[in-house]
Amino acid sequence: MSTKGTVQVNNASKVYEGKAKRIEALKEVDLTIRGGQFVSLIGRSGCGKSTLLRAIAGLHPLTHGSISIDGEPVTDQPRRSVGMMFQRPVLLPWRTVIQNVMLPVEVMGGDREVLSARALELLHRAGLGGYENSYPAQLSGGMQQRVSLCRLLVVDPEILLMDEPFGAVDEFTRERLQDDLIDLWENDHKTVVFVTHSISEAVYLSDQVVVMGAGPGRVLDVIDIPFERPRAQAIRRSPDFNRYEVMVREALDGGGAL
Ligand code: ADP
Ligand code: MG
Repeated sequence: MSTKGTVQVNNASKVYEGKAKRIEALKEVDLTIRGGQFVSLIGRSGCGKSTLLRAIAGLHPLTHGSISIDGEPVTDQPRRSVGMMFQRPVLLPWRTVIQNVMLPVEVMGGDREVLSARALELLHRAGLGGYENSYPAQLSGGMQQRVSLCRLLVVDPEILLMDEPFGAVDEFTRERLQDDLIDLWENDHKTVVFVTHSISEAVYLSDQVVVMGAGPGRVLDVIDIPFERPRAQAIRRSPDFNRYEVMVREALDGGGAL
């Protein structure tokens, strides 16, 4: 498997200095995410998941420590090789679906013809064929999130950073989105760093689950999830699946309830 897209977090600490208090959002975090792996960050609200993801994206400097991608230090310069997706779709309402998906191409450049063919192909694979010229308001929340997934993938980043991307949709839509993501991911095995609150989502999607705790934000445990791929929703009902869920829950509880 490709080692491209390897993320190395070395002794990362991040302190937010407020007027009244000082928050240690991350303290001495060491983490290696191997290229091509699907890794989830899980933990209660406030344990530094978003801070860590933003630091990997270069959106937020660390207070101490460093992060590198394929041996190169992360800086605040945007890179084509890293794409980020958030909880809300953040689509531009005045642009059509295809125009939204093509947005990163306009910002970062590239061969428009090749990339618009790729955009159409991604939309098709995500079950959005025929909606290219619709506007976001005409789509359901789940469909809009699939559009953002296509937009994330259009410039073919090496690393996908996803901050609770399916947190705002209902359970059925969420399962559909999980499977769409896995299908798209299995095609080319990018590195994915996926933030979630859901133990079952983390176990279902990931090769590795990084369990984080708060006060200060830190890594409590890293759990390997060895289920074969491709996976199907049915594995959620297996005793093994349950065993891994329990393992993650125990690691979370070990970090102290909030
Ligand atoms: P998570 O994503 O796990 O919920 P965050 O990384 O958002 O956690 O936040 C970690 C801690 O840092 C929290 O206590 C949060 O209140 C604090 N924090 C996050 N961003 C800021 C900021 N821009 N300024 C001050 N404090 C922040
Ligand atoms: Mg967060």
